[in-house]
Amino acid sequence: MNNKITTRRNFLKSAGLITAAAALFNPADLFAQKRGAAQTSGSKKLTLKWVPFDALLRHPFTIAGFTRTTTPIVLTEISWDGYTGYGEASMPPYLGETQASAMEFLKKVDLSRFNNPFQIQDILAYVDSIAINNTAAKAAVDIALHDLVGKILGQPWWKIWGFNPATTPNTSFTIGLDTEEVVMQKTKEAAPYNVLKVKLGVNDATDRMMINTIRKVTDKPMYVDVNQGWKDKHYALDMIHWLKEQNITMVEQPMNKLWLDEIAWITERSPLPVIADESCQRLTDVQKLKGAFHGINIKLMKCTGMREAREMISLAKALKMRLMIGCMTETSCAISAGAQLAPETEWADLDGNLLITNDLYDGMKIVNGKITVNDKPGIGITKI
Ligand code: MG
Repeated sequence: MNNKITTRRNFLKSAGLITAAAALFNPADLFAQKRGAAQTSGSKKLTLKWVPFDALLRHPFTIAGFTRTTTPIVLTEISWDGYTGYGEASMPPYLGETQASAMEFLKKVDLSRFNNPFQIQDILAYVDSIAINNTAAKAAVDIALHDLVGKILGQPWWKIWGFNPATTPNTSFTIGLDTEEVVMQKTKEAAPYNVLKVKLGVNDATDRMMINTIRKVTDKPMYVDVNQGWKDKHYALDMIHWLKEQNITMVEQPMNKLWLDEIAWITERSPLPVIADESCQRLTDVQKLKGAFHGINIKLMKCTGMREAREMISLAKALKMRLMIGCMTETSCAISAGAQLAPETEWADLDGNLLITNDLYDGMKIVNGKITVNDKPGIGITKI
């Protein structure tokens, strides 16, 4: 027996593997080495910085008679020991946060009370406790912290979490409300995508015009997002039956976010999956939506970031609910952060970076319509 161990040790020693194995399998050693190297490489203080940024929209965005050409964003950076992680808060005006409110929130975040960035749970629980709401501002801290820790560990988050990158879904590409002619043109331009998404809930004539117009160009699978627009559950169910005949494959938020009884009635009878968006903001919403919806649409800007999104995925799976990951208009920073979770979701709508003309980062790619994560550490982005 002893002899066997000795032989094996000798073998490992001669192969130079004992030192290597110790370095690989003892995290304390790893960090000790890192600490030694850090004397010259950077400050051991966690430092948070931010700057406002306006994302320029490729197409003007119109809702309720108001047109905007930009989306307000606040970019963040967290630095430690020579490493820097990037984050982002995206704040479409209808959600209530602004660049001013986000920066006001970030001013209150005191990361100097933490010694290192690895205490992700403690740091982000503290950030969440600073004030209620401010979910996009909180996500800006969460994403930068994950990017930082991933970079220190030298691995992307999909790998740290043990997800299979081959299982990412296609992303849908949204065709906005417009005239018949423009909708046909936009549908033709969406040729690289395997799944389309269209916003309904305006009125019956417009909803049917949008579907019929797109169907003149392509029969690709398509999601519809009603954005709480339907007012009557019987009408909603009739529409869903009609939509199924048009090769629509999923329905998002058919009615008001608070009308869970009506939505549950629809879901029980619906021939298509019915998914919560506005009804589902954070982890605490998930359980109460079981039965009312078939699944949930998770967005980092709603749920405070990657930490809570990961928890929502685990809970939804335990409750046998189906999963989608979505986004706001965002740079490739927040989109690539969301993509780290995409291997665990059935559907994805991660097209926000494709809708802007002044992206600052290179990150996840859409390859043949499918979300494709890379091997770069953290959230997998580099500055352009
Ligand atoms: Mg939606």
